[in-house]
Amino acid sequence: KLHNTIQELKGNIRVFCRVRPLLTGENSSEEAKTISYPTSLEALGRGIDLMQNGQKHCFTFDKVFVPNASQEDIFVEISQLVQSALDGYKVCIFAYGQTGSGKTYTMMGRPGNPEEKGLIPRCLEQIFQTRQSLRSQGWKYELQVSMLEIYNETIRDLLSTNKEAVRADNGVSPQKYAIKHDASGNTHVVELTVVDVRSSREVSFLLDHAARNRSVGKTAMNEQSSRSHFVFTLRITGFNESTEQQVQGVLNLIDLAGSERLSKSGSTGDRLKETQAINKSLSSLGDVIFALAKKEDHVPFRNSKLTYLLQPCLGGDSKTLMFVNITPEPSSTGESLCSLRFAARVN
Ligand code: ADP
Ligand code: MG
Repeated sequence: KLHNTIQELKGNIRVFCRVRPLLTGENSSEEAKTISYPTSLEALGRGIDLMQNGQKHCFTFDKVFVPNASQEDIFVEISQLVQSALDGYKVCIFAYGQTGSGKTYTMMGRPGNPEEKGLIPRCLEQIFQTRQSLRSQGWKYELQVSMLEIYNETIRDLLSTNKEAVRADNGVSPQKYAIKHDASGNTHVVELTVVDVRSSREVSFLLDHAARNRSVGKTAMNEQSSRSHFVFTLRITGFNESTEQQVQGVLNLIDLAGSERLSKSGSTGDRLKETQAINKSLSSLGDVIFALAKKEDHVPFRNSKLTYLLQPCLGGDSKTLMFVNITPEPSSTGESLCSLRFAARVN
């Protein structure tokens, strides 16, 4: 590792809470009564309080972002982690929260508006810029991208050019997409498409391709994307020709499935199976991060595909950041409370 960028005293797991603004048409009348957070961005605070049935619930995180925090404000707070990945660390950034709370907005942003670009495009710009500027010091970086989706505990390759293979729920041979970790902490997913990239334009092309692979129609996309985990992985290999130093970092950016609870979705049949798979993998993720934060001897990585896939990037001296996304809508207070409790447990 090149630098010890942000090795903070409390360890390598941090939680940021982001409250999205109310959208047009959402009921604002009771907002002030149910949720309170730092009133301005300048006072980038750490506390957030939620009122439910006359009871106040207080939470503290590493940072709390108010509704008018811009995408740039968010990025400024995470750009050190991107530098860490360039310096040879394994980094995971998650977005957790109920459907509609702003996970995809945080990760991807709003298409077509550069100011509202999310973390993924901003991280890539920083990486390609840094790569350019380090060239004069003899550094050469190779970058590889893969994108996958975990749906019902099954991996789908979003960069596959074979659409049938992407959509097939069944009939995938057990060997395909098997997860293998080697002794040096590198992860290999059997037959997963991995693409060498040289510019952020190339990556946005791949992101578009992945979005098309996620589903056919628009409704279907919202439906499915809220029920699957989206994992964007950038592998970074740096080599310095003059000093012969070598670094290998990984940046994982994960848009998690919606965290809404079973009861609310009122699910039966296939939907129930989906919801159970989501609940299982989100709670496994919580268990893993909790065990790591508490430095427990046994970390239950194998309880879900997601945690097993990310195992080498979650333990050791890797760095993890969890965004807990919250909506300010009074009708979502129950879900918000669940999300905050989940995040407070791992923080
Ligand atoms: P999720 O991915 O958690 O289901 P989305 O990211 O799709 O939620 O957000 C739901 C809606 O709220 C979208 O229309 C999105 O554009 C909007 N939104 C989310 N966060 C913000 C924000 N910080 N500022 C403005 N609009 C936002
Ligand atoms: Mg989403």
